[in-house]
Amino acid sequence: MKNKLIFIFLDGIGMGQDVDLNPLTKASMPALMGLMGERLTGDTHIEEPNLLVKGIDACLGVDGIPQSATGQTSLFTGFNAQAHLGYHLMAYPNDQLISLINKRSIFKFAKENQIKSIFANSYTDGFFKSFDKTSPNYSVTTRCILASKTNFNTLDDLIENRAVHWDITNITLQGTPNGRVPLIAPYKAGENLKNLTKDYDLVLFECFLPDLIGHKKDMEQSIKFLEVFDEFLGGVLNDKPENVHVLISSDHGNIEDLSFGGHSKNPVPLIFIGNEAHHFQQVDAIDQIFNTIFTRLFNTAPVAEYEAF
Ligand SMILES: [Zn+2]
Repeated sequence: MKNKLIFIFLDGIGMGQDVDLNPLTKASMPALMGLMGERLTGDTHIEEPNLLVKGIDACLGVDGIPQSATGQTSLFTGFNAQAHLGYHLMAYPNDQLISLINKRSIFKFAKENQIKSIFANSYTDGFFKSFDKTSPNYSVTTRCILASKTNFNTLDDLIENRAVHWDITNITLQGTPNGRVPLIAPYKAGENLKNLTKDYDLVLFECFLPDLIGHKKDMEQSIKFLEVFDEFLGGVLNDKPENVHVLISSDHGNIEDLSFGGHSKNPVPLIFIGNEAHHFQQVDAIDQIFNTIFTRLFNTAPVAEYEAF
């Protein structure tokens, strides 16, 4: 059976010390604990036939604190975006990063290699109403969809269980004008994400709650999020077919250290669940994930360095 992948991108989660200000040492996470047998900290390193958990570098040799626009571009293009710019760029991609994304990015590369892919996230009515492709405020993943000329999921897709909202539970959609969307249990949202692999080979989901909460240094919210995420992961893993693999990673640390409310230079997790885990043992940095996914799971030719374009 051919490989399929669910790539869960969590913004702002690193592997930190086993200290009181690390919510990962406090939250109840039975799904993750059941897999790993330990809490996720900087000391975690697991290499098993069906599970790889290791910390990988998100700084990519560039001075300063890792940020979202560059980190996400590195994750979803396989280029070292930080090195390309010479610095870490916050929030949304600038023209230089957009041109990298337009050269090669996850959905476009998948399409060019006949791999059926989807961005699982749903977009609000307001997004479509005010759509402007010149907007400077579109995320890397949104730019990846635009580059691939594929479709955005709508709230109707979400209601019909064909999408997952970035907040997992639809909590931010309660009230007008998006009030037609009911809340969903995290477990059910996880099952919905997994079920997308019936129609797609590569499913990407993005959640930026850990980064938002980490910036607020809010321990209670952090623990709550981690527990919601764990229930969600339980739904993803429930009755998961053997050829469906799950990869979880991040663009930079944040929530694992609530002492200062900013991004950290900590390694970020590379968690791979599935019997192809061994292919990812050699991945040491976030810009190496892209090549490994495509060449090892989907058997494409190796992706080129930037200079080759
Ligand atoms: Zn941030």
